[in-house]
Amino acid sequence: MKKHYLILTAITAISLLLSSCGQGGAERSAFCGELESIAPEGKIEGNPLYVEKVENLPDDFIMGVDASSVISEEESGVKYYNYDGSEQDVFKTLAENGVTHIRVRVWVCPYDENGNGYGGGNCDAEKAAEIGARAAEYGLRLIVDFHYSDFWADPGKQMVPKAWKDMSLEEKSEAAYDFTVNTLKKIKKAGGVVGMVQVGNETNGSLCGETTWEGVCTIMSAGSRAVRKVCPDALVAVHFANPEHTGSYSTYAMQLNSHEVDYDVFGSSYYPFWHGSTENLTKVLSSVAETYGKKVMVLETSYAYTPDDTDFNGNTISGSTTGITKNYPFTVQGQAQALRNVIDAVAKTTNGIGVCYWEGTWITVGGASRAANSALWEKYGSGWASSFAADYDPNDAGKYYGGCAVDNQALFDSKGVPLPSLQVFNLVRYGNGTPPEEN
Ligand code: CA
Repeated sequence: MKKHYLILTAITAISLLLSSCGQGGAERSAFCGELESIAPEGKIEGNPLYVEKVENLPDDFIMGVDASSVISEEESGVKYYNYDGSEQDVFKTLAENGVTHIRVRVWVCPYDENGNGYGGGNCDAEKAAEIGARAAEYGLRLIVDFHYSDFWADPGKQMVPKAWKDMSLEEKSEAAYDFTVNTLKKIKKAGGVVGMVQVGNETNGSLCGETTWEGVCTIMSAGSRAVRKVCPDALVAVHFANPEHTGSYSTYAMQLNSHEVDYDVFGSSYYPFWHGSTENLTKVLSSVAETYGKKVMVLETSYAYTPDDTDFNGNTISGSTTGITKNYPFTVQGQAQALRNVIDAVAKTTNGIGVCYWEGTWITVGGASRAANSALWEKYGSGWASSFAADYDPNDAGKYYGGCAVDNQALFDSKGVPLPSLQVFNLVRYGNGTPPEEN
């Protein structure tokens, strides 16, 4: 997900002096124990929301939350709490409320030549390893999301990493293989447990600077080979967006098949305000699952719990946003119903294995002014982009860099306290409350 869909027209010459990348990082080699779940054993009681039970939900259904920005958030001073108001490791809070997987994006080198982070969490291999280790302490597996870029990859842009920009396709695929191998080894060494690996993010026809299916599939296949080598028990996922575009998913799946990409999971973004009906989502994913024998899931979804911005950087979806489908009110109850209905849609899909909520922990850094927040976004990368990303991404980050555009879609409030909607991951298994009165 990204707020701008601008076409990149030029990449400026950038130094290949990448001294800030691939070094250091807090590896936790001491942690190598078994993954012990602290998931709730039954229904969580006391939740105020109405959550209709989802029928036929498998016990091993993946309940994911993307937490890619969480380290940058904490470095910026953000604290997370449990429902009792006590400060608590956010990964423990997620696990206690039914989350099973943490998704984390990985960029190759999200830093400029002086070591300044591009923002969006400055998500490199070291960050993924640190998040993976912390998540594993609470029984959470990782969904590792390789963008094969130095910054955001989405349907509007799939920019090649700086260090790979002059490479041939073959050289780039070797670089993608090596980067995938090295990152997954780093995560495992730190104690992370990898459940799934995405080879590309929202790759609607382009990836890593490649704009042909041969190029896209070559990069994907290189990533897949790396996953099979380092994490043979992990699922390999591909990820696309815009399920509402008629025929697109059948085309993508056909291309992957004809280019013999080795993958297990066909994943989709599904944002209810952009991406059509849940019925259509179920239909198009079931078609891929049945035609090619693949597992399918929603790798990104979210919904607003409030129309209000909390960090002085306007949000993607707000009370005044036009041109979107507002199926639910922008309330905690509305957010809960949106998430519940996406889980239901995937549970109804042939071979549907899970749903992952996008950036449930990305909240305001809490300053009293935009200037105060901006200083933190620039220093720690806790906004969607810093000014330092301008050279790499001049037409988007270079123009619009700033804070968080989805703080009103988090699963924690602006103070870091979990919203009741976080418990939807548990409550969909049992049902909760009574239907709210219609407005
Ligand atoms: Ca905001």
